Amino acid sequence: MHSFHYREGELYCEEVALRRAADEFGTPLYVYSAGTILDHYRRLDAALVPLDHLICYAVKANSNGAILKLLADAGAGFDIVSGGELFRVLKAGGTAAKCTFAGVGKSREEIEYALAEGVLSFNVESEAELERIDRIARSKGVKAPIALRVNPDVDAGTHRYVSTGRSENKFGIGLDHVAAVYEQAARLPNLSIRGVQMHIGSQITDAAPFAEAIAKVAPLIEELKQRYPLEFFSVGGGIGIVYESSFASGSRDWWTEKDRVAATMTLPLTIADYAATIVPPLREIGLRVLLEPGRLLVGNAGVLLTRVRYLKQAAQKKFVIVDAGMNDLIRPALYQSYHEIVPVREPSDKARESVDVVGPVCESGDFFAQDRELPPVNEGELLALMSAGAYGFAMASNYNSRPLPAEVLVQGDRFSLIRQRQTTEDLIRDEC
Ligand SMILES: *Cc1c(COP(=O)(O)O)cnc(C)c1O
Repeated sequence: MHSFHYREGELYCEEVALRRAADEFGTPLYVYSAGTILDHYRRLDAALVPLDHLICYAVKANSNGAILKLLADAGAGFDIVSGGELFRVLKAGGTAAKCTFAGVGKSREEIEYALAEGVLSFNVESEAELERIDRIARSKGVKAPIALRVNPDVDAGTHRYVSTGRSENKFGIGLDHVAAVYEQAARLPNLSIRGVQMHIGSQITDAAPFAEAIAKVAPLIEELKQRYPLEFFSVGGGIGIVYESSFASGSRDWWTEKDRVAATMTLPLTIADYAATIVPPLREIGLRVLLEPGRLLVGNAGVLLTRVRYLKQAAQKKFVIVDAGMNDLIRPALYQSYHEIVPVREPSDKARESVDVVGPVCESGDFFAQDRELPPVNEGELLALMSAGAYGFAMASNYNSRPLPAEVLVQGDRFSLIRQRQTTEDLIRDEC
């Protein structure tokens, strides 16, 4: 679900015409719907009512402080992967006591910072990290709360760059070995064992891998419960969203038959399906459940607005050259991901042409769509790259010395700038 729709021939986010935001703040521009983010959070929260649970939003998906504040106010905890993310959460009004600290390579400074602030748990991924956390905790005279991340070796059926729960991935500790590492943790005096953690990958669109992973880890938890005062089982994030025809709600006059078919074929893993799959086995396990969704909460809640700069007819192809580039949204270049592209001015008929939508960056990988059937567009026209709320701005860079884009948050009929566009001066500010 999301709150982007056409009204009177124009694309709106909630009650705001996107054209107004683009006119006021320029392009490329990220626009997020607060209503969509909160709707996703509340629906997931409601679906998990049978469990004692805490939703820890995975900050890395979109770390803008306004979004963190929205979720903190709604009661969310946070899954962080760096000291920088902890800093952002605290600045946004979140509490460390609801933060889980993940990642395979935490530094001494990050561990000290997280200990001082009092995070809920360090999710530990190796013996070496366990020893380091113990040593740092000892030097501070405190006990560090920890969970071990187990790698259940399941195939999440997702892109290999975002699969994390296979034994060949760098993440977690193998199921056959993890009990021994818990024993090691129990022997270290300044650690306090709190839970078990897993995260099998991202953009998972089928409930089965989650069920399989829980089933594989459940016997381990039963065994560990006999020995340690376990408090929680964190099942990670990874719930996939719809990228194709995410935009389709009801059919429109200008839809082609292909649009109609695509809209019926894209079945997301719904929150209800996900909950129906995980709630029964997790109730059986009986521990408090932590979840770490990132993409699910914010992915469909954001678009990247871009303006068409030039149309270029080459021998084989027609290129639509837009003002956003792979530095603003790298997902197509990095993961071959699909983003639906729609004109902000509603098309009037079924006319389509096959085009490549490309950015200005000097890389052939700098494209948003190839051989895509789009309504014909003109120079100067606004396009929306849909479902760009997760791993969009968060992965943006200054490559090609392009200033970072601005970000806007829509709430009902109001919209406000939540990050200003960088200037060219910003590009050199930190150089000396
Ligand atoms: C990235 C990450 C998540 C969030 O993944 P999504 O696919 O965005 O839900 C959750 N937990 C951990 C440990 C992660 O690294």
